[in-house]
Amino acid sequence: MMTIVVNTTLKKENKAVIGVDLGGTKIATGMLDQTGSLLERSQKATAGLQSSEEVIATIVDTITEVRGRQEIAGVGVASPGMVDSRSGVILNGVNLPDWDGISLQAELERRLGISVRLINDANAAAWGEYVYGAGRGSQSMVYVTLSTGIGSGLVLDGRLYTGASSFAGELGHTVINPDGIQCGCGQNGCWETYSSGTAIARLAREAIAAAGTQSLMTALADKEGTAVSAKHVFEAAGAGDEIAQKTMEHVIHYTGLGLMNIIHSFNPDCIVIGGGVSRAGDAFFAPLIRKTEELILEPYRGTCTIKPAELRDDVGIIGAAALFVDRE
Ligand SMILES: [Zn+2]
Repeated sequence: MMTIVVNTTLKKENKAVIGVDLGGTKIATGMLDQTGSLLERSQKATAGLQSSEEVIATIVDTITEVRGRQEIAGVGVASPGMVDSRSGVILNGVNLPDWDGISLQAELERRLGISVRLINDANAAAWGEYVYGAGRGSQSMVYVTLSTGIGSGLVLDGRLYTGASSFAGELGHTVINPDGIQCGCGQNGCWETYSSGTAIARLAREAIAAAGTQSLMTALADKEGTAVSAKHVFEAAGAGDEIAQKTMEHVIHYTGLGLMNIIHSFNPDCIVIGGGVSRAGDAFFAPLIRKTEELILEPYRGTCTIKPAELRDDVGIIGAAALFVDRE
């Protein structure tokens, strides 16, 4: 009989990496080996934390928990909002107490004695999908997450592109209609006011109000005791509801315009779409791919694969950790 020996210890030159996903409600931390397998995971809520000191101490606790006695190549931290990766400072967008101006990177390095890198969560997700997910093997990949808003990250010629000030990739705030509704950023008609999950729900409610008739979307939402959401739009469109199908057509058009801008700007060979909206599957992707191919200039046709993200809830952890993976 053959015995298979599984070697669970890592070679010294093959150190583990740690990723921290710093969210508005929780801190999720994982240790990965160099192949991207999650070895350990820890999660703590941020709700009861009163100060930035408590938040930092909690991050350190989760790292200590997952690390054990393992040698670590580095810790990547993914944070929502604008992140200055050069100074390691989170500028805004985090629901954490007295957070302004603190160099999380410097604080963590001081306490842990390990290299730390801080990046925006969409950039982390982009890098995670590129190294371990749907973007594997591509040369230039753009990641887009369609959720409450639209986040995005750019991997150009195999490198995570963060721009001169580390703020590259706010594609949700590129304008597709200057006469459109006002976005949270102050501009009118940003892409995220047309293609995010929030936007899809709004477009559906507007369509229902304009039609003045019953829609399956309302019935589905009522049954759950909630407002109409993107999920109800997809579900009702699939069941043949005309107002939902019309809404879907508009959503596909707006989303395709955003992807067209991406393809014309960066000429990627792959666009990976994540976020809740991407889980609608083929009913969303098939018409979206058709529409985008129709919108783009002729030489670009057939040059870019558009596909759903592969990594799910731990994409922030995996992408942040992957900043320290040896890729040669
Ligand atoms: Zn905007």
